[in-house]
Amino acid sequence: YISIRNLQKFYGHYHALRGIDLEIARGEVVCVVGPSGSGKSTLIRCINRLEDFFADSAIHVDGVPVLPGANLAKVRAEVGMVFQSFNLFPHLTVRQNIMLAPRRVRGTTKAAAAAQADQLLARVGLESQAEKYPSGLSGGQQQRVAIARALAMEPQVLLFDEPTSALDPEMVGEVLDVMRDLAQTGVTMVVVTHEMGFARQVADRVIFMDGGEVIESAPPAEFFSAPRETRTRNFLHAVL
Ligand code: ATP
Ligand code: MG
Repeated sequence: YISIRNLQKFYGHYHALRGIDLEIARGEVVCVVGPSGSGKSTLIRCINRLEDFFADSAIHVDGVPVLPGANLAKVRAEVGMVFQSFNLFPHLTVRQNIMLAPRRVRGTTKAAAAAQADQLLARVGLESQAEKYPSGLSGGQQQRVAIARALAMEPQVLLFDEPTSALDPEMVGEVLDVMRDLAQTGVTMVVVTHEMGFARQVADRVIFMDGGEVIESAPPAEFFSAPRETRTRNFLHAVL
């Protein structure tokens, strides 16, 4: 469903992604792990072209090439993204945050967008918070709103970049629970995370990156109990 071929990314002279080849099936849940600076964020930001990438590289989402121009809007409408830092609009209420993209991009009516927003809020356990502003919510609640907002465009793919890393420990669980539910719905998910327990339980496949390359890719049972590569073993030894 997502196909990545020879993905090369340079920041100036710095070679951040060194030829990534990756196929992600429809409905697959892939967790991406690896040390700081290994290129995890860069990889997922390339999937909806928040980062430009080298011309010899190719990414397709649902068969559509991720190139600047007309296709890009199509790809971005299918790919939702959730960031570490929530990125909610502070001057809009929770409900308005969720309504914004369907209203602007799809031309959904106000009433329909509001009804959908309330449904999504119920799904992430925040039905009573619709009228509040983001600053009135906890970090975990804000991140659940950000997930609801991403879902409002009914994406086929959800990209998460360390969605729980900015949260106080007691709020990590409520966000992972929402993500665990989502993983059951058949949406394709790519999750950059340090939560090894989540990766072990929820991922169909875990990918280890280091130095801008995919070093290892395996189902979690195999990845955590019998990693093939020395670099993976060293990483797991350090984090587990
Ligand atoms: P972390 O776990 O710390 O989030 P990461 O695996 O997500 O790390 P990236 O953010 O993808 O790593 O960065 C990969 C490399 O590219 C790093 O060495 C980083 O310093 C560099 N890099 C990232 N963004 C930029 C940028 N905008 N300009 C220059 N270099 C960058
Ligand atoms: Mg990162």
